[in-house]
Amino acid sequence: MGSVNNLSELLQREAAALGLQHVRAVSVEERAPRIEAFDAWLESGHHGQMRYLARGRDDRADPRRRLPARTAVVFALEHHHELPPDPGGLTGRVARYAWGRDYHNVLGKRLRKLRRNLRHKGIDSWGGVDTAPILERAWSESAGLGFSGKNCVQILPARGSWMLLGVVFLPVALEVEGSGPLREHCGACRRCLDACPTEAFVDARELDSTRCISYWTIETRGSIPVELRAGFGRWVFGCDVCQEVCPHNAAPPPGDEALAPRHAWLDLAELIDLDDGPLMERFNGSPIKRPGPDGLRRNACVVLGNLGSSEAIPVLERALKRGPLVEEHARWALDRLG
Ligand code: SF4
Repeated sequence: MGSVNNLSELLQREAAALGLQHVRAVSVEERAPRIEAFDAWLESGHHGQMRYLARGRDDRADPRRRLPARTAVVFALEHHHELPPDPGGLTGRVARYAWGRDYHNVLGKRLRKLRRNLRHKGIDSWGGVDTAPILERAWSESAGLGFSGKNCVQILPARGSWMLLGVVFLPVALEVEGSGPLREHCGACRRCLDACPTEAFVDARELDSTRCISYWTIETRGSIPVELRAGFGRWVFGCDVCQEVCPHNAAPPPGDEALAPRHAWLDLAELIDLDDGPLMERFNGSPIKRPGPDGLRRNACVVLGNLGSSEAIPVLERALKRGPLVEEHARWALDRLG
């Protein structure tokens, strides 16, 4: 293994070669940063049905359970692309991170390649993206890469929050640059808190997922609470409202081409009418598959109800035949359309 300086330079070089725009290292102490806040959030039940978060809690709390980690290296990949023109008609919007290829594959693959290159140099590592039990935003914050906005998202000064994060732990103590966590730059602003269509923020930096559009449209497969549905507006998969209103995102840098838009708007009639196989095939390689065929149809019914167009009625009538979950949401939407 080379010197610590060589390793820092190697990491910077590898990251640049893999198109990872931001890299920052921080020492691993006894416990992961912000684990107390994470525990309190779990305790409050605000993670809803995302039980995998509680299951991976101990690994999140201490990455040394996986590897005798001395350093956490945080990587950020920018993913902002301009919103393609609104096609109008019966269409719904998708959250920006999901417009292109699945970032778990794009960023995950790059991190695996980086780790492979390290292994060839005799350096063991462990890490990944948010599917691994890692508090990636907390590590980013503690490394001084970004600060936590009141919308709970990492914001990189002068770059904004359209970032995907990954963390790689190393059993080597690296010299850590910078002066630790950044000062937060939200000040008196509370645009994100006020703009949330379903009032999902209990307070600044405290999200109740069980009121969040992203949570319901992506993470769950059951019935969406009736009182939240009108707030979904046109969001059929995820939601970007709290990032779109943020002044730190006023001039976002262009995102990685591997994440160029393919599915920024979804045809809602297609979601209802395609059978399961073709529907999942339509989103091959995309995170949009996550809620499954019925979850997507359920989301489509909610948006069709919100569009206020009589054109949605025949589509919703066809949705009545798509099983109990979709039927219930279609009935709600038909009632809403009168
Ligand atoms: S919208 Fe305002 S309060 Fe919310 S994260 Fe951005 S700067 Fe902070």
